[in-house]
Formats: sequence, C-alpha cells, structure tokens
Amino acid sequence: MVSAVAGKSRQVVFPSRGEITIDSIEVPAPGPEGILLRVALVGICATDLHLLAGEIGDPFPLVPGHEFVGEIAAIGEEAAATRDLAVGDRIAVEMLLPCRSCARCREGRYNLCEADDPATAGHGRQYGVNIPRSVAPGLWGGYSDYLHVPGEAIVHRLDPDLPWERAVLVEPLAVASRALARGRLVPGEDVVVIGPGPVGLLAAAAARAAGAGRVIVLGTRDERLALARRFGADAVVNTRTEDAVAAARAALDGRLADLVVEIAGVPAAQEQALGLVRRGGRVVLAGACGDGAALALRPDEDLLTREIDVLPSFLSAGGFEPAIALLERGGFPFEELVTHRFALEDAARAFAVVAGREGGVLKAVLDPSAAPGGDGV
Ligand SMILES: [Zn+2]
Ligand SMILES: [Zn+2]
Repeated sequence: MVSAVAGKSRQVVFPSRGEITIDSIEVPAPGPEGILLRVALVGICATDLHLLAGEIGDPFPLVPGHEFVGEIAAIGEEAAATRDLAVGDRIAVEMLLPCRSCARCREGRYNLCEADDPATAGHGRQYGVNIPRSVAPGLWGGYSDYLHVPGEAIVHRLDPDLPWERAVLVEPLAVASRALARGRLVPGEDVVVIGPGPVGLLAAAAARAAGAGRVIVLGTRDERLALARRFGADAVVNTRTEDAVAAARAALDGRLADLVVEIAGVPAAQEQALGLVRRGGRVVLAGACGDGAALALRPDEDLLTREIDVLPSFLSAGGFEPAIALLERGGFPFEELVTHRFALEDAARAFAVVAGREGGVLKAVLDPSAAPGGDGV
C-alpha cells in the first residue's frame, strides 16, 4: 500500500426511499488489488433523483453518484503494478463493475453482466446505483470524499491537464458514444438526435466528431437548441412549434435521417424517432422512460416493411475510450454544460435545483472541496 489518507470520508446517503442525509464512514487502506479514489467532482444525474424516489429498486442505504472522476489517494501494490498507476494520477472509473466471467462480460457487453449477485438481481453491479452502503467497505458511491475501486473495476487514466469540469462529463459522453456505436454510424451519414439534455448535446458533438454528414437536434427548449448548434448541430428543430418530420426533411434536402438517436426518454419521442428515419435506417433508443411506459408502434408500417433496426443502448460499456479522446481533443464548449456546483452538504439543495430545472441548470455537480452554503452558481 502506498500513501496514507485521512481515516474518514463524508458521504451523502439515501438511508431509505425519499430520505437524504450526510454521514461519515471509516476509510480502510486498499488491499493489494484495490485503489482508493479521492473524488474531485461528481455529476448529478436524473438517475440519482429516480433512485431517491425509490423508482429503481431498493438499494438502500445507498451512497449515490456514478458520474465521478478523481485522483488516486492510495493504491495497492498489485494494482499499481498491473494498472501502471500511482498515487496522484487522475482517473475515470466506469460505473459498471463487471464480474468479468459471465458470458455477457466475456463478449464485451458488460453493461448486461449476468453475475448472480442477490443484491443486484442479475443486473450487474453499478457504482452509486445498486450496491448498498452495507456492503463492505461501504465506499460505492461518488457523492463522497473517497471511493473504493476494486480489482475488477475498469479504470482509465486521464490527462493531468484535462480540467475537472470537462473530465466530469466522461460518463454521460460515454453513454452518448455507446449510443452512436450501437447505431453503427458511418462517416457522411445524417443523424437526428432527439432530446438536447447533457447526453443529447454530447451525442451531437460525438456524431459530429465521428464524421456525420448533417446533425439535426430536436427538442422543446430554445436555449438548449441554441447550445446544440455549438455542440455540432447543423440545424435544430423545436418540436413544440414545428412539425418534426417536415422540419427534419427540410434540413436534409427532403430526405430522412440514416440514424436517429433518441435520448429524451419519453415514449412519444421514441415513436417519433421511427418517423424520422429512412427506410432501412437505424433507430437507437438510449433514454430511460420509467417503469410502466409503453410504446405504440405499427409493426408493419413502422418496422417490417421499412426494415428499421431498432437498437436499444444501455449505459456506457465501451464508451469511455472515445469519450476521453473527445474530451481531451476539445473543440466543443464542454465546460459550459456544468452550470452548477455544490458542496456535499448541499446535495438536497442541488437536487431541488435539478428537479425544478432552476436557473437554466444543465449539469449540476457536487464538489467535495466546495464550502457549504453556496448557491451553486
Ligand atoms: Zn448518469
Ligand atoms: Zn458479468
């Protein structure tokens, strides 16, 4: 074990559904294969709000936070040797903790890990989502000073010059990158992205960077759509005031898109996606719609006779490498996505800002080094 750290970590805890509190926990030294990560920034995701509301299982008590980046505070000898990492290195750790032995992990689809773990009901282990704090050492969520990184974790080194405000977007950008990979984007093809939230804006940038022909972003809020243009969109469509198909066709010389990526997470947008894609095209469904949501599709008219490939894309597997490359290359106003920053103690206030869409919030982050009581801006 290299380096010593403070013996305790603050954590934001969801003790049970609807409850949010702050607590502290003992930080043990990592074992030979382990790493202790000091969290620099952690993004607040809509998933975290759904977790608090009890809409994603019963993982309580839970320390949320899966969009974290930080630096190595301590590292076991084996981890240091096999990963070629040292104390002080900046890293991103994938939210998925693969078992590395089930059939899905072995074929690289570790977002579908089928490890037989009673805690996660066969859904694979995910930081900040489904590993209760009661599982030792209790350091499984990013809303904290420190986090445990076991031997099976997938760890990526970050350039020391990459600002944390940009690095913290790696997980949402990895989700966007996986969505485009699932959609088999070929350079020159036209792409429609539905839903200009952080992942949608990042998907537009990733499509542009991957050589898309034209990139069109559809949404309902003009300020988000204006930002989409700066994230690589050639045209934007406000679907409140414009007919989506007519406007998309107008932007694509009368054609429909080769690839549509839906990240709005509402069934109506998923149905709309089918109408925006050309015959033989691909539709990626990357937005979670919530329990009980249902689609109204016409099997023959929408799918069969047009041979549309519908490709769900779940989480971020395989997306971190392209995401880190794009963040390091720059070229898009990534830092502007991080609009709000709060101390760990102000997590409840941060949630209110995110849930209420206050102050033009795009991505709010928690900063363990921030002083409590700030207004987030
Ligand atoms: Zn997220
Ligand atoms: Zn597995």
